[in-house]
Amino acid sequence: MRKQIVAGNWKMNNGLIQTKSLIVELKQQTKTSNAEVMIAPTFTNLWHAFEATRQDDIEVIAQNMHFAENGAYTGEISAGMLKSLGIQTVILGHSERRAYYNETDEALAKKVSTALENEMRVIFCFGEELSDRKAGKQEDVVKSQLVNALCHLKAQDFKHIVLAYEPVWAIGTGETATPDQAQEMHAFIRNLFRDRYNDEVAENLSILYGGSVKPSNAKEIFSKPDVDGGLIGGASLKAEDFYAIVNAF
Ligand code: PEP
Repeated sequence: MRKQIVAGNWKMNNGLIQTKSLIVELKQQTKTSNAEVMIAPTFTNLWHAFEATRQDDIEVIAQNMHFAENGAYTGEISAGMLKSLGIQTVILGHSERRAYYNETDEALAKKVSTALENEMRVIFCFGEELSDRKAGKQEDVVKSQLVNALCHLKAQDFKHIVLAYEPVWAIGTGETATPDQAQEMHAFIRNLFRDRYNDEVAENLSILYGGSVKPSNAKEIFSKPDVDGGLIGGASLKAEDFYAIVNAF
């Protein structure tokens, strides 16, 4: 049985005071679905968030990490540093990291390996640009992102990998892939892993959709058979909206 996951990517939002109050509000919400709930505050607030949710059904995760274990990488954070706070899961490959910080497939392959060597779980993001979709190349683009960054892994490594398909044209734009577009791509991705690995890897892989998911569209998107949850940006900054999405399963 695949895990259903709803993860909130807070991006570069919320200082310590806002983080404290949003967590208080999140803790007041009721979860009626079986989805695993995760929040990804900025690095400086991870420790507070981790401590404040220790007793709750909320996992605090990181938005990024470096591929090196340590060293002269000013401004960067390692897997070991995250683990030392109790953080077990990291988002890698977000399109904003790819676009603004030149994260390449090659660097992401190294980050994924480092995360797994440190016994972390990875939420791996990928997705096509609008121009790719207009040219009908979305499957080729997604396939190359996945193959280049993940296909050096062994079948058993995929127990620690969650995929997040995030078409770049749908992130923060208010424009969402239709539930059918999401399903079509998720089925393509699952079959890619069936071909490259086996049925077990494909069937156990949780594939999240991300891109302008809101309380008003979550239910329809999550009703699709190959959509196992969501990576939520803007709507994760409001406790009520976030839990309306969590409870849309
Ligand atoms: C994201 O950044 O991962 C995301 C999906 O953002 P939004 O929900 O705001 O489109």
